[in-house]
Amino acid sequence: MKNNCIISIDMGGTKILTAAVNSTDGIFARVKHATKVTKGKINYAQNLAEAVRELQAEAQISDEQIKAISLGVPGSVNPGTGVISLAPNLGLKNYNLKRELEKQLPYPVLLENDVNLGALGIMHSGMTKGIQNALVVFIGTGIGGALIFNNKLYRGNTFTAGEIGHLHILDNGPVCGCGKHGCFEAIASRTAITRDITAEIKLGKRSKLAKLVKNKTQIKSKALATAVTANDPLAIRHLTKAAQTTGKVLASINNLLNLDMIILGGGVIEAVKGFYIPIIKESFHEYSLAASAKNTKILPSKLLDDAPLFGGLMLAEEFLDMKI
Ligand SMILES: [Zn+2]
Repeated sequence: MKNNCIISIDMGGTKILTAAVNSTDGIFARVKHATKVTKGKINYAQNLAEAVRELQAEAQISDEQIKAISLGVPGSVNPGTGVISLAPNLGLKNYNLKRELEKQLPYPVLLENDVNLGALGIMHSGMTKGIQNALVVFIGTGIGGALIFNNKLYRGNTFTAGEIGHLHILDNGPVCGCGKHGCFEAIASRTAITRDITAEIKLGKRSKLAKLVKNKTQIKSKALATAVTANDPLAIRHLTKAAQTTGKVLASINNLLNLDMIILGGGVIEAVKGFYIPIIKESFHEYSLAASAKNTKILPSKLLDDAPLFGGLMLAEEFLDMKI
């Protein structure tokens, strides 16, 4: 018989990733499940319950082995009550997912913001061992951040701390997913970078990415990496600009907080880190107070996509006060 475990869930708009995790075996089973739309609406609680049952059947996990369900939500969540106050990409507002899911499954359900879970997972990986204060930044479709103070996740007064993507950078700048203009995310996320590249290609600029734009195919991080390797001037120019902005933002934050470490993750970082991080560092030092940046390390995350899944284990151990 296997050890006890938790079920960690990464909840996206189109798919649900479920994984069985514990501290001895790590992730020992995982299943990807497409979200089902019934009569134009998604019943998330039912979809999640089905995904858990599917994983249980596949990995032969009994009800008794499961100590909790930990859910990463792309939005603001109160981990105490389980209320999602806002998850724009899932179309959820003031929704008590914990209560709904606990009606369908016989385990405690815990919820946390997905970026915070990612940060907890990175802590679990040992990257922050021996240090006290860190910022974790994920750069992908959007830009998310999480703060670790005194080796603990800092959630803030209404559980929205770490929203680095919505720092205001540019007056009258491009519109952001939050509805405001000129947010960091609207300038330096993959969505923003590819929006600017696409606009120039449409105006006739040459690029290795022109074919994708012509075929109306989304430019993913991997395509950006291929363009960088091929020395594509357009991709390099826009990525450089975004990396410089990122360095500037990180310098401002570090001037305020004087951190031990800044950890970078997410699709863009994973795809182009060799090219991207040196530019971020250069701009970071240019805009930092020398004394503030002196000992601050900037490093890529080692955990990649699995960070939030391991974070779910740490969340369960924190809230249930037990080792799993
Ligand atoms: Zn914003």
